[in-house]
Amino acid sequence: MNKINNKRVVIIGAGFGGLELAKSLNKKKIDVTLIDRNNHHLFQPLLYQVASSALSPADIAAPIRSIFRYSPNIKIIMNEAVSIDTYTQTVRLNEGSVSYDYLVLAPGSRHSYFGNNQWEKFAPGLKEITDALKIRENLIESFERAEMSASRHDKQKNLTFVIVGGGPTGVEMAGAIAEIARRTLLPDYPLIAENEIKVILVDASSQLLGAYPDALSDYTKSALENMGVEVRLNTRVSDISENVVTTNNGTIEAANVIWAAGNEASPLIKCLDTQMDKIGRAIVDKYMNIPGNENVFVIGDSAFCTDEDGKEVPGIAPAAMQQAKFVADVILHGKSKHFKYRDKGMMATIGKAKAVSVIGKFHSKGLIAWLIWSFIHIFFLIDFRNRLFVMSEWIWFYLSNNSGARLIVNGKRKSKENLSKSKVEC
Ligand SMILES: Cc1cc2nc3c(=O)[nH]c(=O)nc-3n(C[C@H](O)[C@H](O)[C@H](O)COP(=O)(O)OP(=O)(O)OC[C@H]3O[C@@H](n4cnc5c(N)ncnc54)[C@H](O)[C@@H]3O)c2cc1C
Repeated sequence: MNKINNKRVVIIGAGFGGLELAKSLNKKKIDVTLIDRNNHHLFQPLLYQVASSALSPADIAAPIRSIFRYSPNIKIIMNEAVSIDTYTQTVRLNEGSVSYDYLVLAPGSRHSYFGNNQWEKFAPGLKEITDALKIRENLIESFERAEMSASRHDKQKNLTFVIVGGGPTGVEMAGAIAEIARRTLLPDYPLIAENEIKVILVDASSQLLGAYPDALSDYTKSALENMGVEVRLNTRVSDISENVVTTNNGTIEAANVIWAAGNEASPLIKCLDTQMDKIGRAIVDKYMNIPGNENVFVIGDSAFCTDEDGKEVPGIAPAAMQQAKFVADVILHGKSKHFKYRDKGMMATIGKAKAVSVIGKFHSKGLIAWLIWSFIHIFFLIDFRNRLFVMSEWIWFYLSNNSGARLIVNGKRKSKENLSKSKVEC
């Protein structure tokens, strides 16, 4: 390969978008530098299963270096990008800097507390493995404290789990906690009674899964209720402090509060000095470029993008991957047509053998939707080892209600994604 004239492409983020882009540029006459602050690619759609102890972190993550072991044109840097200078075409990292001819930002999003970052300490969100482990450890520690509790009031507080946000992540978390708490943990704690476990899902709107058809939203609500989840709709959270959630419908005392109510783009987008939407995503043009910068692209959850028909492209994994393939094509072959999003549908799981899915005009619920969901999630896991492990864990969990990922290894773990401690300097 003649390295002298190769274009230098720098990709920030090895999530769904960045990884797919690097794969599309693999073994091409391009020097790719793929930067991520973590050493692994994470399959976020199954993160809630790590948080609820159904899976281990290694089941849903893969080391980035191994993925590109046989890719001589792809250099991996494990570091955090902290600022960008589009004039000198340089990305500054925590340690050192990298120059580019083309820059593609795929740093994703993180949870947003709508200006109330102080809530994060009491209500962690779910975005990284460290978040999932923190939630998992809180869950198991609460059972331990409840088992030892001399006061009824403390016991009830430790056995109350509040999930804020009724979108797919909130629904999945609520269903998984209800199942794990009642079926997996309860038999190991002889002093806890089933009716003492309270799982409460709150949402400000009048429906769960707002983007889904009404019939599937209603099904989701009744499926969760049958699993023992109390669904409180039209309930807006106004404050979260230690063990207390305040809403317009009263306060809830709970030792476990999980935030699944909002997202905002990576703060790195601010470094681009370009127009952003209200959740901080860069507003990109039809080639995924930021206006006035033909060599800077933003893809995935950090981009606000409309497709040919003027419809907003959703912030989901398939959209990030399609945008990545499109940008690879622009870099390799030049600009041609408008980015076109192919909607492959949406799905959310509720619990064992219960899910909802919308694929074109085909709407399904219950076992059929769950089988589709399981098949698709196994299929898209990054490597064969993960597929095999997840499949065997699920079969075991399905048959025995028992999960192996229940160790407490670091009760004082801190979330890496602590909003107040981000090192990004823009
Ligand atoms: C809990 C959860 C469940 C989800 N479930 C589904 C689902 O079922 N189906 C679905 O389609 N989508 C789902 N999503 C959404 C989906 O995961 C995202 O849409 C998708 O990951 C977006 O891809 P991305 O490449 O934009 O960002 P990401 O996949 O988030 O990747 C961003 C990467 O950038 C890295 N990074 C960020 N900032 C920096 C920096 N400054 N320097 C270096 N590296 C950085 C991060 O470490 C990360 O690896 C879910 C998301 C979550 C959190």
